[in-house]
Amino acid sequence: TKVGGRHGYRFYTPSMRERDSARRRIEDGLHTALARDQLRLLYQPKVDAVDGRIVGAEALLRWSKEDGGWWLPDEFIPIAEDSGLIVPIGAWVLRQACRQARAWQREGHGIPVSVNVSPVQLDDPGFLAHLDAALVESGLDPHLLELELTERVVVSGSQATGALLRAIRRLGVRISLDDFGTGYCSLSYLKHFPVDVLKIDRAFVHDIIQDSETAAITTGIIAMARSLHKDVVAEGVETLAQSEFLRDAGCPVLQGYLYGAPMDATLLEARLREQPPG
Ligand code: C2E
Ligand code: CA
Ligand code: CA
Ligand code: CA
Repeated sequence: TKVGGRHGYRFYTPSMRERDSARRRIEDGLHTALARDQLRLLYQPKVDAVDGRIVGAEALLRWSKEDGGWWLPDEFIPIAEDSGLIVPIGAWVLRQACRQARAWQREGHGIPVSVNVSPVQLDDPGFLAHLDAALVESGLDPHLLELELTERVVVSGSQATGALLRAIRRLGVRISLDDFGTGYCSLSYLKHFPVDVLKIDRAFVHDIIQDSETAAITTGIIAMARSLHKDVVAEGVETLAQSEFLRDAGCPVLQGYLYGAPMDATLLEARLREQPPG
């Protein structure tokens, strides 16, 4: 059902009941996906801003549809979070990413792999055990694993969160603050929370060339992060102009379509093999 509006067609929002049953279908589907191995991880390269070498990769989750297409995480992660399914899914993601990183390490490409972790997973009392099991099972050097957490975790973070993050770091696993600058996280939080990496949100990167205020804020974040001895990564880099700006502002690591979309592990491995040994 649609009606013509001033801006073209508008869709009526589905009734609550339709929405509930759609959610339930996705939930059921996710159960099946876990059981039948229909989840996949793609990997997006992170590159050195100066020489373009691949210095890391982010694991991004996909769910394959019956028809050969993919569901994107934004379509199913919120439902997985509400239903608690994100806990077993997240454990699978950790195991899978550690195994892949270990395989690359064996091939001589010891790049860190980062995994997105939902706040719901961190609230689960079994999280540390899942993390530890993934490391032990794979035999991966913990320094080659990085967890990307959003500002939500840190801002709403209790003392328990602080203790958990410290426990994660004691394992040797690095912590990255994803989507930095979009929430309410000021740099002062970083004094209290043990974070190794700041990931500048792609919304900033998107505007740095056209908007001088965004450019100034981004430059400031990079400078402050570096003086706090944090690593910095900028995500969503799509153009050469953006990459040059970020490099000149001192951002050491870049990620975005300019360097490669999320890809199959075998494709990323081929790219790693092509680059001269460093
Ligand atoms: P995110 O962590 O901020 O991941 C970056 C998103 O930006 C990815 O979308 C990636 O494909 C996309 N992207 C990469 N380069 C560019 C670019 O140059 N331009 C633009 N416009 N986009 C770019 P994706 O894969 O659809 O993932 C969306 C979100 O879903 C992620 O955002 C993350 O929050 C969540 N997610 C993905 N995988 C997992 C997972 O395994 N577990 C959990 N809990 N969340 C996940
Ligand atoms: Ca991320
Ligand atoms: Ca992000
Ligand atoms: Ca994001």
